[in-house]
Amino acid sequence: MTPTSRPRLPLSLPPHPQPPLQRRNALLGAIALLALPSARAARPAPEASVPWPHASSVPGGIARLSLGPAAQRPQARTADDLPLLVVGDPIEWTALVGIPLAAEPGEARIRVLRDNGQARELPYAIEAKRYQEQHLKVKPGQVDLSAEDMARYERERDHQKQVAATFSEPIPRGELRMRVPVPGRRSSSFGLRRVFNGEKRNPHSGMDIAAATGTPVVAPLAGRVIDTGDYFFNGGTVWLDHGGGLLSMYCHLSRIDVKTGDVLKPGERFCAVGATGRVTGPHLHWSVMLNRAMVDPALFIAG
Ligand code: ZN
Repeated sequence: MTPTSRPRLPLSLPPHPQPPLQRRNALLGAIALLALPSARAARPAPEASVPWPHASSVPGGIARLSLGPAAQRPQARTADDLPLLVVGDPIEWTALVGIPLAAEPGEARIRVLRDNGQARELPYAIEAKRYQEQHLKVKPGQVDLSAEDMARYERERDHQKQVAATFSEPIPRGELRMRVPVPGRRSSSFGLRRVFNGEKRNPHSGMDIAAATGTPVVAPLAGRVIDTGDYFFNGGTVWLDHGGGLLSMYCHLSRIDVKTGDVLKPGERFCAVGATGRVTGPHLHWSVMLNRAMVDPALFIAG
């Protein structure tokens, strides 16, 4: 059962008489009523009750780290001091850690801040993942930018960095299973390393979905528009903020029907597929970012 289909219990109902809840009554105290919708009979394991996004502790993946119970949502930060998305409820909070594609496998850690201002460190392991490599030979000079284009690209890169730093309040009791933004064949090219004439380029940091120009794109989750523009590589682009440092980006658009500040419901149309920017044909490039790391969008969708 997904939370979207979960029946809303009227608040006047008595709490379900169930042992796990009773044992935790001391913890829940006055907030027991607020926790009622999640305190359904035989509460499933945390992974089953908050299954999205899937855990995949590899570069470009997401680590799900249990922070245990706490009355208030704990604050957690990466080793680089970036704020993390924490989801769950007073019975169990979970930090969702976006792992950059450039991260080295091995032990990593986050910091969890306590109410008294002290922090504890929580280690986790990043497993190795071999992404595919694609070697392309092109005429020398063909992949180099003119001085003018380079200046434009650098301006836009700095602007996008600012956009990517957006961190707003997490969606309360956030449901993070995403709709696929556009129907079509989905590439599995996230993380693909491209090498032009032996020179390494940035890996592919999103999912490409094949669709005709003009196909409407829908919001995968509720979100707020935080940037729109026409960029050198990405073409027509929209960024959405889903709260807690979870952002998504849509590129090569032929049409943009929203402006910065607009708020979207899940499934609401807001732009259309195109072939703008540096692309060879129409498709949607879809990126998902968590604590400023581009992570595999496939972890957020079913199938
Ligand atoms: Zn792409």
